[in-house]
Amino acid sequence: MSAFKEIPVDVGVIYTGENIRYQDMRIQFGGPPPRGAKHKFELVQVKDQEEIEDGKITILGPDINDFEEGSTRPLGIYIEVAGPELEKDLEGVIERRVHEYTNYIEGTMHLNQRYDLYVRISKASYEKGFNSFKIWGRVLELLYKAELPIVEKIQITFITDPVKVEEMKEEALKIYEERDARARGLRDEDVDAFYGCVLCQSFAPTHVCVVAPDRYCSCGAVSWFDARASSRIDPKGPNFKIEKGECLDAIKGEWSGVNEVVASKSLGEVNRVWLYSMFGYPHTSCGCFEGIAYYIPEVEGIGIVHRDFSELCVNGLSFATMSDHTGGGRQSRGFNGISIEYLRSPKFFQADGGWNRVVWMPREIKERVRDGIPEEIIDKIATEDDARTIEELRSFLENVEHPVIELWKAKEEIEEEPIGAEAQLAAPSQQGVISMPTLPLSVGGLRIILKNVRIYAEKAIIRREK
Ligand code: SF4
Ligand SMILES: [Zn+2]
Repeated sequence: MSAFKEIPVDVGVIYTGENIRYQDMRIQFGGPPPRGAKHKFELVQVKDQEEIEDGKITILGPDINDFEEGSTRPLGIYIEVAGPELEKDLEGVIERRVHEYTNYIEGTMHLNQRYDLYVRISKASYEKGFNSFKIWGRVLELLYKAELPIVEKIQITFITDPVKVEEMKEEALKIYEERDARARGLRDEDVDAFYGCVLCQSFAPTHVCVVAPDRYCSCGAVSWFDARASSRIDPKGPNFKIEKGECLDAIKGEWSGVNEVVASKSLGEVNRVWLYSMFGYPHTSCGCFEGIAYYIPEVEGIGIVHRDFSELCVNGLSFATMSDHTGGGRQSRGFNGISIEYLRSPKFFQADGGWNRVVWMPREIKERVRDGIPEEIIDKIATEDDARTIEELRSFLENVEHPVIELWKAKEEIEEEPIGAEAQLAAPSQQGVISMPTLPLSVGGLRIILKNVRIYAEKAIIRREK
């Protein structure tokens, strides 16, 4: 790209999706616990033309080349933009492009969003000369003006002074909350169309976010209003309209139009989506989700965890471990990447029992969404203060008479039912020998891939080929 001649590293879409490993990084900004820096944020605000000195890049604190190799630092990226067609409602979508454009820079990895910001710059790119925020800022300026021409003026401030990052993050949190609050109140049945987002396909090629008023996207940074605005100002960009089509199931949240668009955008990998369930055909998960909803089979309940929770969850797994089961663009039944805002939705996993099914969540998140949790259930949901193991959780749920206990009773009744003659006859054919999401087979020179496989067989013979 000729516009980037002055930049010492390459810039282009081919660099998106680069994974910079710890041993290859020159520096990390932000990132999740335990190694990440606690305070980080990125924020875009629309300003009046006269408030902006176009192209100005300010660094508050040390620059990239002032830090020791291998260090991890707090960072704030504060971008102010102006242009006659810019409105406040576009701030969220302009902000989300920081992820896309930063990833265009060779040897740079940008993950997540808002207060979950996580960036690494590789040693190789640093050695090529990417050693200052001035370079990063200039790339952002050029890309914003080229890709979103309604951004006429831009000034960017990088903040690395830890005290200032923390102070400004507090302000940013209030602004995110105001944005999210504006999008509350609208229901899925009030609109004719949803919107889609494929920004994360660079990391998760089959992931398609369906952004509906009642299902806030999983990164928590793109509301239905944001996606609509983005699809209008940048029709060739990552956001697009999804006509709902026929409602196939109002409880599970399935529409024919959604299924068609998701099938086409995922290149046939995902053909059905239930927006209000984490079982069956759940929404796909990319990798930048703010939280994970996970099924706890021992108590028939749902646990919630957010990215910043550094301890083990009640099922003995960390956020990072569950993230591996959840992300990558898959439909993982029983593990679903969610935004914290989705917890406030009246349709939050309504097909699975909604809040009556939630049994555990970190104290911090419970406090954050307290006003969105039904009053009658709030004290029946355990936190790390109440239960740290499944056994402790089970006793807690019994003590508080959590509604999920009804499911235990139902399960016991089924297990105790005597097996009649008919059931005994049917039993052998119900023995699943193989059950897996993908099964590749090679037959007569052809490769056949079976999806969502369950094979029943009276007998399985496995023989090593000579
Ligand atoms: S998580 Fe979804 S809405 Fe957010 S940037 Fe990725 S694809 Fe878009
Ligand atoms: Zn993502």
